[in-house]
Amino acid sequence: AQNGPPDYLNGLNPEQRQAVETTEGPVLVLAGAGTGKTRVLTTRIAHILATGRAFPSQILAVTFTNKAAREMKQRIGLLVGEAVEGMPWLGTFHSIGVKIVRRHAELAGLRSDFSILDTDDVIRLIKQLIQAEGLDDKRWAPRTFAQMIDGWKNKGLGPEEISEGDARSFGNGRGRELYRAYQARLTTLNACDFGDLLLHPIRILRAHHDILAEYHKRFRYILVDEYQDTNTAQYMWLRLLAQRPRTSASTSVQPSAGRARDGAPGEVSPAPTASENKVNICCVGDDDQSIYGWRGAEVDNILRFEKDFPGATVIRLERNYRSTAHILGAAAHLIAHNEGRLGKTLFTDRPDPEDPKVNVHAAWDSDEEARAVGEEIEALQRRKHALNDIAILVRASFQMRAFEDRFIEIGLNYRVIGGPRFYERQEIRDAMAYLRVVANPGDDLAFERIVNVPKRGLGEAAIRQVHDTARALGVPMLQAAANLAESDELKPKPRAALREVAANFARWQDLLETTPHTELAETILEESGYTDMWKNDRAADAPTRLDNLKELIRSMEDYESLRAFLEHVALVMDTEQNEDLDAVSLMTLHSAKGLEFETVFLPGWEEGLFPHQRALDEGGRSGLEEERRLAYVGLTRAKKNLHIWFVSNRRIHGLWQSTMPSRFLDELPEAHVEVNESGSSFGGYGNPYGASRFDNLGSPSGGYAKRGDQGGGNQAFSNTYATPGWQRARQNRTEATSRNWGTRSGHAVERI
Ligand code: ATP
Ligand code: MG
Repeated sequence: AQNGPPDYLNGLNPEQRQAVETTEGPVLVLAGAGTGKTRVLTTRIAHILATGRAFPSQILAVTFTNKAAREMKQRIGLLVGEAVEGMPWLGTFHSIGVKIVRRHAELAGLRSDFSILDTDDVIRLIKQLIQAEGLDDKRWAPRTFAQMIDGWKNKGLGPEEISEGDARSFGNGRGRELYRAYQARLTTLNACDFGDLLLHPIRILRAHHDILAEYHKRFRYILVDEYQDTNTAQYMWLRLLAQRPRTSASTSVQPSAGRARDGAPGEVSPAPTASENKVNICCVGDDDQSIYGWRGAEVDNILRFEKDFPGATVIRLERNYRSTAHILGAAAHLIAHNEGRLGKTLFTDRPDPEDPKVNVHAAWDSDEEARAVGEEIEALQRRKHALNDIAILVRASFQMRAFEDRFIEIGLNYRVIGGPRFYERQEIRDAMAYLRVVANPGDDLAFERIVNVPKRGLGEAAIRQVHDTARALGVPMLQAAANLAESDELKPKPRAALREVAANFARWQDLLETTPHTELAETILEESGYTDMWKNDRAADAPTRLDNLKELIRSMEDYESLRAFLEHVALVMDTEQNEDLDAVSLMTLHSAKGLEFETVFLPGWEEGLFPHQRALDEGGRSGLEEERRLAYVGLTRAKKNLHIWFVSNRRIHGLWQSTMPSRFLDELPEAHVEVNESGSSFGGYGNPYGASRFDNLGSPSGGYAKRGDQGGGNQAFSNTYATPGWQRARQNRTEATSRNWGTRSGHAVERI
């Protein structure tokens, strides 16, 4: 006996309410950023529970991250109280996958206590297999194969299902055998990799009709957030669970390539009566926010929904509750430059003349950019703006370095979301280990980290012997290594390797006093083979790591000696990331999906960085469109204040190079944008190097920096920032675009 709608429905607009209350049958909510898609899903779950349509255990709800799952659970709790207890099936595809595999482990050839391997484990295992096949693991990099396997699994393909071409593309045509051997090893180890958490459930559900029927019965309601970024395997999985036999006859689930081994893959068994099996699936998404194409996500899944689920109700939400009219106007104008999109309207009905326009600023270089952003944040802080409400979203992880250093310097709390902090990255730790040993030959921990990185044929036995010798003689491991290299206690190969390591370090130590430390660091990374190790690595993240290494060297320029730099990093590493602290969030654009902040900074809007050159080189037009969607995701994270930055210069290999403002800046409508000429909004930051320096940086091919000619002196510098300036630059852009970042093709774009 209720009067009016229950509380949780209050405040929803009619379309949102329809999406919440249409509980039966398939529903697709297709809508732009900030229109309440996630809120609709949450409320829908609350509604299903509150009206007794299902128990918490009968709802399958998929989010894109574990964090989003936790938040959703919390919100449902707020809406309906204790009823949310349980919700055992709310999580990411992977976390739900683990659960399914544990329940039926024996059907996947595992015991229910199987372990889940991390990337390092996987690579080690693959390496053993490659060697066991008698293949050269330098030519056939284990990391590359690990990514190939992951790619296949994301398409739902087991060893027998990959195409002949794929199978031949690795290990002298032995890709399929290796994949098969890898799966066999996993079984022996009673282990799964990440891809298996998607692949095993598909296998189990396909092969065992009774089990599938059991899940059909169990999951009365299925809900999926961020549907535009589901990959093929996740899609097949959803279809198996959601599609009932009566409707599936015409659309059997089939892997996108290859043939299945055991019988017809997609056929679903006859299930219980259709009436008790109505498909109550609700997916929400935004095709304009599909940003994981490079990782196998298929935006087509969203476009295909109505075909897959006949009679689906499609609901569009058009009112944006998140952002100001200026931010929305800017985002909508930008994304309209994409061709392959469904197109949709977004509006806000609270345009406020007080709302600030989208701010575009320019800085001399990335340190300047970090300094200015830091000042702006401090100013916000003085106005009692919570740091938790501020985010900095970067295109590439190396950009974080300047911000992290700056924030530590001024004592501003920050946290990095969705990845390690800059100095905690594997490649940075490795490089730092080399530098530490050079600065302090007694640093055994650092020595052990890199003595066999890159691989020098030093096995565990040899390293243990270095250890034992060091302990017996009471000397550092480096010294012990030098001793062992001259004795005959080791086999020739490890002995030669140790001799080289010892000689290298001795030479670098000699250089310490005479060579500028940045130069020395470059020499060390080159002569040790460390840089080459990543250059030869065909894995998708290798170029990102090389970028990070370059940034590391670049950042050393700010310190007067190697020792001063090492001290700085040690202090940086000492700062804790405390979850409860009020702190600025720093993350990549990819990690920012679904989030919102009062104030957002988007630094580094320069050609080559954003859009990223590698995305353009590899993906052409579709690569550019995915970059633009990423920009759209970035813009639409902001509620009120949005600051976009670009720098005019980047130091690359110690050389200054002028950069071009991103073409995305041109795609922002002037009506909603304010250009901060010479950055005066922050109390002015001038060109620290004087205008002449700027003039000297004119681009060889004419174009952007040449505009210095138009004014001369300081005038010229501030012209750089004005709208007409960068728009003129556009016209001359063609030849200049790939100049600074160009030619590194054949690599993948920055991945979260
Ligand atoms: P994205 O595409 O970025 O994931 P979304 O469509 O999932 O966005 P939500 O995050 O659900 O959007 O909602 C955006 C913001 O608008 C949230 O702060 C949410 O609480 C608020 N909001 C949504 N619907 C309403 C409403 N009917 N009344 C008031 N606020 C709302
Ligand atoms: Mg959302």
